[in-house]
Amino acid sequence: MYTPTSSTPLSASFTNSEFDLHHLWHPYTSLTRPLPCYKVERAEGVYLYLADGTALVDGMSSWWACLHGYNVPKLNAAVNEQVSKMSHVMFGGLTHDPAIDLCRALTEILPNGLDRFFIADSGSVSVEVALKMAIQYWHGKGTPKTVFAALNKGYHGDTFGAMSVCDPNGGMHSLYQGFLPEHVFIESPRSRFGDEWDPADLAPLEALLAKRHHELAALVLEPIVQGAGGMCFYHPEYLKGARALCSQYEVLLIVDEIATGFGRTGKLFACEWADITPDIMCIGKALTGGYMTMAATITTEHVANTICNGPAGVLMHGPTFMANPLACAVAKASLELLLSSPWQTRIAAIEQQLTHELAPALELSSVADVRVLGGIGVIELHQPLDVAKVQAKLVELGVWIRPFGKLLYIMPPYVIEAAQLSQLTKAMITICGEAFSHQP
Ligand SMILES: *Cc1c(COP(=O)(O)O)cnc(C)c1O
Repeated sequence: MYTPTSSTPLSASFTNSEFDLHHLWHPYTSLTRPLPCYKVERAEGVYLYLADGTALVDGMSSWWACLHGYNVPKLNAAVNEQVSKMSHVMFGGLTHDPAIDLCRALTEILPNGLDRFFIADSGSVSVEVALKMAIQYWHGKGTPKTVFAALNKGYHGDTFGAMSVCDPNGGMHSLYQGFLPEHVFIESPRSRFGDEWDPADLAPLEALLAKRHHELAALVLEPIVQGAGGMCFYHPEYLKGARALCSQYEVLLIVDEIATGFGRTGKLFACEWADITPDIMCIGKALTGGYMTMAATITTEHVANTICNGPAGVLMHGPTFMANPLACAVAKASLELLLSSPWQTRIAAIEQQLTHELAPALELSSVADVRVLGGIGVIELHQPLDVAKVQAKLVELGVWIRPFGKLLYIMPPYVIEAAQLSQLTKAMITICGEAFSHQP
C-alpha cells in the first residue's frame, strides 16, 4: 500500500501503485487527495490475495456480483469454450446461441409474463433503457408521458437518466442541477421487512398517483432492499401495494433488481416476496456471476408490442457491445451453477448466522441499528466511518469489507463457509467496538 506524499515524483519512475494513485480514478474518489488502494493479484473461492500475499475473506462479492466466489472452474470453462468460438460479434443483424440460450433460461425463472429482453452493457444502461421503454410505451399509447416517480433513498446507477431517479438528497442532484431532468420523489416505506405492516406507508404514493398520474410514465423502485441509498429492507406489502396502485392509475412499474436478483434476499428475485410482476425489470450485477459487465431490461409482451407499434416502431437503443457472447455464455453458466446449487439452504444458513453473530453489535454505544436479510448483513453506526482507517484495520483483520458512510455491511459469496463468515462478523464487531468515527 502506498500513501500519498506532498511532492509528486515523475510518472516514469512511479511504481505501479504510485501510478494508480496519481493517474487512475477509482469510484467516487479524488486524484489529488486519493484514498489508499490495495493491489489484488488473484482471487479464488471467497479469498482475495493481495500483492504482498495477504489473503482476505471477501465480504462484498465485488458489489453483489461474484455470488459463486472467484476463479470458479465451471465459469472459467464457459468463458474458455466461448472465447475459442468468438468473443464478440455485433448484435445488429446478427444473433448467436449464447444470447438466445441465456434469455430462454432467464424466461424460466423471471416473474411470470416477463419475456421480452433487451441486453445492456451495465446496470445503469439497463435503467436508461427501462426509462426509454416507458417513454416509448406512452408514445405508443398516443398519450405521451415523461415524468418518473421514484423513492427517496433509491439508487439506480450513475448515468444521467439513472441518476435522475436516484435519491435527490443523498445523491448527486445538486451537482448536476440544470442538466438533470426533474422527477418526483416520495417518502420511502417505513415498515421494515419482518416487522408489522403499516398501510399508511402507501399514502404518499397514492396521493401522488391520484394527483399526477396523467404525467407519470412510471414508478421506479428497488424491490425490498434499498441498496446504495442506505441498505434498508422494507415490507413486501409496500411492493404489493405499489404494484396495485400503478395498475389502478395506469402508471408503469419499473423494478430495479440489479442488486437483489439471483437469490441474494432469499428469493431468486425480490419481487417474489410480494408475488408481483413489474411491467419492466432491470437485472445486472450477479447476472454474469461477477465475471464481466452485462445487464438486461426485460418487459412484457404488452409493453413490447405497444412500443413497437408506436410512432418510432422500434426501441431506440443499441450499444456496440450489446449481448456480448462471452458475457452471455458465462451468465448462462452462472445461472446453471446457481440453480443446481443448494442456494436457498446456503442463504438461509448465512442469514441465520448473520442474525446471531451481528446481534451483539446492538449493545455497543457506536451502533444505531443492525439488520439482516438473506445474504445481507448491515450494521448502521451513529457516526460516519473514517474509510481509510477502517479499511486498513479490516485488512489487518484479514477481511475485505468496504465501509460506506455510517454503514458497515456485507453480502458475501453464497459459497462462504461458517468459519469464514464468522471472520467477517467478528471484524465488523471489532470495528464498531473501536468506533473509528470520521475525523474531519
Ligand atoms: C449497482 C446498481 C445499479 C447500477 O449498475 P452498474 O452496473 O453499476 O451501472 C443500478 N441499480 C441498482 C439497484 C444497483 O445496485
